[in-house]
Amino acid sequence: MKDIATPTRTKEILQKYGFSFKKSLGQNFLIDPNILHRITETAELTKETGAIEIGPGIGALTEHLARKSKKVVAFEIDQRLLPILEDTLSPYDNVKIVHEDVLKADVVNIFQSEFSDLQDVMVVANLPYYVTTPIIMKLLEEKLPIKGMVVMLQKEVADRISARPGTKAYGSLSIAIQYYMEAETAFIVPKTVFMPQPNVDSAVIKLIKREKPAVEVDNEAFFFTVTRASFAQRRKTILNNLTNQLPQGKMHKEQIIQALQQADIDPSRRGESLSLAEFARLSNQLYPIFQ
Ligand code: SAM
Repeated sequence: MKDIATPTRTKEILQKYGFSFKKSLGQNFLIDPNILHRITETAELTKETGAIEIGPGIGALTEHLARKSKKVVAFEIDQRLLPILEDTLSPYDNVKIVHEDVLKADVVNIFQSEFSDLQDVMVVANLPYYVTTPIIMKLLEEKLPIKGMVVMLQKEVADRISARPGTKAYGSLSIAIQYYMEAETAFIVPKTVFMPQPNVDSAVIKLIKREKPAVEVDNEAFFFTVTRASFAQRRKTILNNLTNQLPQGKMHKEQIIQALQQADIDPSRRGESLSLAEFARLSNQLYPIFQ
């Protein structure tokens, strides 16, 4: 049987079920088996690995995951795809489809019941582009015991996730993700491998969970508050952003200046020039003031 992801087989399946794409659900299906090989290679799956997929669509990536890993659990929000998946994935007995919005699903519980016997579990997905960041952040913040993620998303978001300090793409999203994960862009993907073609360029990123977070902070939530505040207005200095954005920041201006000095950060610098280590020092100095 030909791969689901070949253009002819995809068209046949869509026609057979009279399926029409829902733009609002970010439905851009992959129609190039080569890209799927590259995604699964990047994820370094083995027959001992578990795979979590978000949005299997008609099963293009799912079948590659089923062939290369021990077990696949895939979350799909669109009910119309369930009978199609049952048909296209019938040759594989190691796939479980969960009909749920991944943002509402109890992923921790599902993880425990499906993957407790497996050492390594990877999230591998061609993400729906309207919710890429909330999905990645949910999986990170719930501290799902995964090894990492290999996901396709908009190139612009991939650039922001893997950006280094001092670059235009570097911001609070880079920090939120790099705090937990080593991040790199694995490869760029042309629009032509999708049906229908999206309006933006795409990229596959590889995120591997660090053994412990990149930096030590006294309070994680406050660390993220400080980083978000520091990038609120990119052209403003870090001092300006902190006084304007932190709760009652203006009242605490003198203390903020002191905290910056103690963290060895010039108050006239911009947020985009600070490394994770500098943000950690700064938030640890500010925490007692805003606690
Ligand atoms: N994996 C397929 C492929 O590569 O051809 C389809 C990828 S398509 C970009 C995204 C898929 O995610 C669609 O099947 C869509 O219905 C599904 N989806 C969208 N929002 C979702 C959500 N909140 N939870 C679960 N699945 C979702």
